[in-house]
Amino acid sequence: MPTSLGAASGVVRSSADTRRVGVMGGTFDPIHQGHLVAAAEVADTFALDEVIFVPTGRPWQKDQTEVSSAEHRYLMTLLATVSNPTFSVSRVDVDRTGDTYTVDTLRELRATLGSSEIFFITGADALANVLSWRDHDEVLRLAHLVGVTRPGHVLADPGLPTGAVTLLEVTALAISSSECRARRRAGRTIDYLVPEAVAEYIAKAGLYQVNR
Ligand code: NAP
Repeated sequence: MPTSLGAASGVVRSSADTRRVGVMGGTFDPIHQGHLVAAAEVADTFALDEVIFVPTGRPWQKDQTEVSSAEHRYLMTLLATVSNPTFSVSRVDVDRTGDTYTVDTLRELRATLGSSEIFFITGADALANVLSWRDHDEVLRLAHLVGVTRPGHVLADPGLPTGAVTLLEVTALAISSSECRARRRAGRTIDYLVPEAVAEYIAKAGLYQVNR
């Protein structure tokens, strides 16, 4: 059951003809089954026509030495989503130089998506700080925000305008990228936590080894 931060849910279908597009933003280092289940759950809940996954280029405020290259993360996201016809992957953040700001992501996608309604989907923890994001007023105008979170995770209301953010609990988000990386570094399996092709890519590229 989705919950709204603020008052009633702001998700109202403006017109039956308007396309509804999810924009799934994340570092995806690596992409895992929790991300895929979350995207599918949001698509179902909000009757989305498609979901565009957007791996960050240079994640804001993250130490670049600790993040796999944008190209690795883009390719893993492509491998994870290729079999779903309603999922696609955008290079807008990977190809833009400098730090990744969601306002730039949404401006670029808005220019190509015409009158579509945009739902920006990401981890609820990340959205909790949205008022500190660059041009957050414009972010809120460009998209409805959907924060996905694991069950039982309580998030304080960050003081957002009424209905600006909807939270959705997704059981599969018990899986996390940091746990996948830690398991690899400990020599443990990540089978079934990530899609098979992603596990194979990680092994082939030697990602998340102790001395990376
Ligand atoms: P993060 O801080 O690495 O992640 C915070 C939490 O959210 C983690 O538990 C993470 O789990 C989860 N998460 C992240 N993306 C998710 C997704 N798509 N679906 C489900 N859970 C997700 O967050 P981040 O990856 O750097 O940033 C997330 C998005 O917010 C990106 O699109 C980023 O560009 C945007 N952002 C924008 C600004 C800004 O404009 N100033 C600032 C911060 C973030 P996992 O590690 O398992 O994914």
